[in-house]
Amino acid sequence: MPLPDIRARIAAAELAAGRAPGSVQLIAVSKLQPAERVRGVLDEGQRLFGENYVQEAAHKWPAWREAYPGTEVHMIGPLQTNKAKQAVELFECIHTLDRPSLAERLARMAQARGVSPAMFVQVNTGAEPQKAGIVPDMADDFIAACKMMDLPLAGVMCIPPDDQDPTPHFALLREIGARNGLTGLSMGMSSDFEIAIAHGATHIRVGSAIFGDRAPRPAP
Ligand SMILES: *Cc1c(COP(=O)(O)O)cnc(C)c1O
Repeated sequence: MPLPDIRARIAAAELAAGRAPGSVQLIAVSKLQPAERVRGVLDEGQRLFGENYVQEAAHKWPAWREAYPGTEVHMIGPLQTNKAKQAVELFECIHTLDRPSLAERLARMAQARGVSPAMFVQVNTGAEPQKAGIVPDMADDFIAACKMMDLPLAGVMCIPPDDQDPTPHFALLREIGARNGLTGLSMGMSSDFEIAIAHGATHIRVGSAIFGDRAPRPAP
């Protein structure tokens, strides 16, 4: 779907929810997309992107950042602790802070560098065993621990289970954010971003609706 149409749908959802125009940030998820599609969207003025794989982002983004000033790239995929150093150098924001070992590594690097990407704590709202994210019962303690480490928390993030109505997951995430004083809500993808906006999403992560189908995932 053309980018202007996506932007129009976001504006309509903001209006319907009684939210200020521009209160939702569109993260264009460019993982595994052909370069010409991404360049097309850059040429249309989009400057905020999401990537899932550190290697792929390291390969793609340095040249585009030069060519398109103001570009921001957010990490939205699971982050291995041994890739944390590369990630803090590559991304303005990490949406997938989900465990103490990663928090400790990121905190040490933030101290050493004096700067840090903003971070969202990923919550596994469906408590799915195969999925990344801290389970809801442990979220408050984990968020408190991240604050003790002085990590710059921007909000919370979730990926609802594939086969369920996302509504209760968005509502739960919002509740977890609110009771922990975190205002950012990273939730909503191609199939459900309007519902997420109705539930207060501040950052939606939209890939295939903008770019079309992705190439298959590479072997890790
Ligand atoms: C791939 C991905 C998206 C985008 O998914 P679409 O369904 O293509 O919009 C959003 N969030 C995360 C975490 C992803 O991995």
